[in-house]
Amino acid sequence: MGKVTGFMEFERIEEGYKPVPERLKHYKEFIVGLDASQAKVQGARCMDCGTPFCNNGCPVNNIIPDFNDLVYKGDWQNAIEVLHSTNNFPEFTGRICPAPCEAACTLNVNDDAVGIKSIEHAIIDRAWAEGWVTARPAKHKTGKKVAVVGSGPAGMAAAQQLARAGHDVTLFEKNDRIGGLLRYGIPDFKMEKSHIDRRAKQLEAEGVTIRTSVMVGKLPEGSKVTNWAKETISPEQLKKDFDAVLLTGGSEQSRDLPVPGRDLDGIHFAMEFLPQQNKVNAGDKLKGQLRADGKNVIVIGGGDTGSDCVGTSNRHGAVSVTQFEVMPQPPEQENKPLVWPYWPLKLRTSSSHEEGCTREFAVSTKEFMGEKGKVTGLKTVHVEFKDGKLVEIPGTEKEYKADLVLLAMGFVNPVATVLDGFGVDKDARGNAKASTEFTGGYATNVPKVFAAGDIRRGQSLVVWAIREGRQAARAVDEFLMGFSDLPR
Ligand SMILES: Cc1cc2nc3c(=O)[nH]c(=O)nc-3n(C[C@H](O)[C@H](O)[C@H](O)COP(=O)(O)OP(=O)(O)OC[C@H]3O[C@@H](n4cnc5c(N)ncnc54)[C@H](O)[C@@H]3O)c2cc1C
Ligand code: SF4
Repeated sequence: MGKVTGFMEFERIEEGYKPVPERLKHYKEFIVGLDASQAKVQGARCMDCGTPFCNNGCPVNNIIPDFNDLVYKGDWQNAIEVLHSTNNFPEFTGRICPAPCEAACTLNVNDDAVGIKSIEHAIIDRAWAEGWVTARPAKHKTGKKVAVVGSGPAGMAAAQQLARAGHDVTLFEKNDRIGGLLRYGIPDFKMEKSHIDRRAKQLEAEGVTIRTSVMVGKLPEGSKVTNWAKETISPEQLKKDFDAVLLTGGSEQSRDLPVPGRDLDGIHFAMEFLPQQNKVNAGDKLKGQLRADGKNVIVIGGGDTGSDCVGTSNRHGAVSVTQFEVMPQPPEQENKPLVWPYWPLKLRTSSSHEEGCTREFAVSTKEFMGEKGKVTGLKTVHVEFKDGKLVEIPGTEKEYKADLVLLAMGFVNPVATVLDGFGVDKDARGNAKASTEFTGGYATNVPKVFAAGDIRRGQSLVVWAIREGRQAARAVDEFLMGFSDLPR
C-alpha cells in the first residue's frame, strides 16, 4: 500500500479536457492526462484492499492495487510489467474504457473512486515514451498454424498471445486497416489511430502475418457492413490451410428502424457515417463523404455510438444536433448502497454531449417525413413503462426537422452468412455459440474452429474483447499442444 492515510488526505483528480471551441476544430485527442506527480497522488489514494473489488470489476482482472502502489513509489517500469501481464493494450482501455473497475472501487462506496483509468493511461503513455514497450517474439516455434479472422481488439489480443506461444499466426481483416471498431467505429478524437499502428508493428515483429482487405466467407447481397476487401478466402480453404481458426469478426449487423419513410435519402446507420470520417483523417480520398455540415442532425440511440455521431457532426459544422433515447432519463446520481460494486445506471454525459447536443429521453420515432425522396423530418411520440412494457403516451406526438438521421441503436448480431459459411451454430441471439468454460471454452461445434469477442458475446466493450481474445488464445493453445502456459 502506497500511503496509509492517502485516501483521507488526497482528493480524486480528473483528467482534463482541452476547451470545447479549440477541440471542435480538429479530430485529435483532447484529453490532458495526469502528470507523474498527479498520478503519484492518485496511487497514494489506493487502500490496497484485502478484497480488491476493482480487480474483480475489471474484465481483464488488472492487478490494480499493485500498479497503484508502484506508481506511488515511482517504479513505472514495474508498473507497466504488471499492467501488461493482464492487458495487451492498456493504451486502448486507458483512453476509452468506461472503467467498471472504478465503479467497483471500495472508495466509491462513500467517496470518489481511485482514478484507476487515469493511472493506467499515465503508465502506458510513459512506457511507450520511454521505449519500454518492445516486441517479445517467442523463443521456440511450435510449427502450428493459426488463422485469426477479424482484427478488432479480440483478434489483436489473441494473435499476440498465440504468436508469443510460438504459433505461426495469420490475422485476416476484410477492411483496409486493422483495428476493428477501434479503427472504423471509435472516432480519432476519442482514440487516435497511431496507437493501433504501433501495435500492428509490434505484432509483425512478433511474427504475426497481417493480411488486410481479405474477406473470409461472404457478406449478404447489399450488406452495409464496412468492407474494403479485394480478395476472398473460403472457410473451407482456411480450415484446410490452418491447424486452428479463431473467429473474432465482431457483431456488425446494425439494428434498423423499419418505420414508414425509412428508405428516404439522408437516413444512415452510424457505421456508414463514422468510418468515413476516420478514413478521411487517415488521409484517404473519399468521393462524396457523408457529412453533417449545415444540417439539422438527429441521432437515434443514446449510447456510445450515438455520442460519437454527435461529436463528429459538431466537428463537421452541423446546424443542430439532437439525440434521442427511447429509455427514460436515468438519475444523475446512482443509489450507491444499492448498486455498488456493480455498474450503475445513471445519466452519463460524454465529452461529445458537452460540445453541443439536445438530448431527448423516452422518445420513440414513428415515421420519417420527406420531400422529393429526401428526409426532411420525423414524427415522434413519448413513451413510458407500463406493466414492464414501453407504451406510447397519447397526445405527446411531436415533429422534428431533420436533414440527416443517424441510426445508432446498437448491433443485433454478427453477420450470419460468415458463421453459416463455417457451419458454426448460433445461440438464441444469433451470436456464435461457444461457452467460456475453463476446458473446451471458446470452441464452436465445428472441429478446430473457435470464437471470441463480440462475435460470441454480442455487442460489448473493448476490454471484454481483449479478455476474450486472451482466454480464447489459451484455449486454442491447449487444443494444439495439449497444455498451455498462457494466462487465462
Ligand atoms: C461507434 C462505436 C463506439 C464505441 N465506443 C466504445 C468505447 O468508447 N469503449 C468501449 O469499450 N467500447 C466501445 N465500443 C464497442 C467496442 O468497439 C467493441 O465492443 C469491440 O471493438 C469489439 O471487439 P471485437 O474484436 O470483438 O470486434 P470488432 O472490433 O468489431 O472487430 C471485428 C473485425 O473483424 C472484421 N471481420 C468481420 N468479419 C470478417 C470476415 N468474415 N473476414 C475478415 N474480417 C472480418 C471486421 O471488419 C472488424 O474489423 C464502441 C463501438 C462502436 C460501434
Ligand atoms: S478497490 Fe479501490 S482502494 Fe481498493 S485496492 Fe482497488 S483501487 Fe485500491
